[in-house]
Amino acid sequence: MRPSLFAALLSAGLAVAGTARSNIHPPLEVPWNEGAADCKAVPPWPLEVHPVDAGTYILRESLCSTFEAPFMYLLIGSNRAMLIDTGDVADPGQMPLAQKVMELLPDSGGAKLPLLVVHSHRHLDHRAGDPQFIGRPGVEVVGYDIDSVRAYYRFADHADGIAQIDLGGRIVDAIPTPGHNETEVSFYDRNTALFFSGDFLLPGRLLIDDTAADIASARKVADSSRTGRSPPCWAAISSSIRQARPSTGARNSIRTSMACP
Ligand SMILES: [Zn+2]
Repeated sequence: MRPSLFAALLSAGLAVAGTARSNIHPPLEVPWNEGAADCKAVPPWPLEVHPVDAGTYILRESLCSTFEAPFMYLLIGSNRAMLIDTGDVADPGQMPLAQKVMELLPDSGGAKLPLLVVHSHRHLDHRAGDPQFIGRPGVEVVGYDIDSVRAYYRFADHADGIAQIDLGGRIVDAIPTPGHNETEVSFYDRNTALFFSGDFLLPGRLLIDDTAADIASARKVADSSRTGRSPPCWAAISSSIRQARPSTGARNSIRTSMACP
């Protein structure tokens, strides 16, 4: 089941002093294309790419390709890169996601840097593009079903239930955040101090499969932040944003990020 409405946006660009994060504070209020009343009347733009820094990219699928217009995130370390979600469109002719991601990856030893593809959760708008990546050399795609998620992250092996993904000079915490869906995983990038919340944290109307689990997930994330287990959070970014205005084909200033949990 997919949520019918997505996020409204809260505050952005929270300046936080951290020890392990980078000192880069680029603006996250990206002027994303807000779609068009008649998509056939405007030039196609399947995918938008916004570089946060040299190794961090926000990608967004076009509203003329999918009403979900989901975000995806590419985090590049020294040994491998990590893509969070593969969007809502499977057809590479319509949505050249894998092609664009591979273009963004740096070369390594005569090939592209290895890529790990993960998901915020199993809803189709977050993993429809998986077939574009499966079978590519140097690419590992983590399954989206609950058994695959548990087997890959092995959350139970960690005392605090939080797994780490080492990209080489860049540790990303994988935090199980069930509630909206049982497979939901949020990611905290220690280098940028960005918290990628998928559909777990959306300040908008959202379907919740398990309310008790969702509240427990929120407490766990908040407790992790308060106890200083991780460096301070700069901003949280969800998988989608809601656009309040009619589509005009113009770019607008909708905010991309939310306050940290
Ligand atoms: Zn969802």
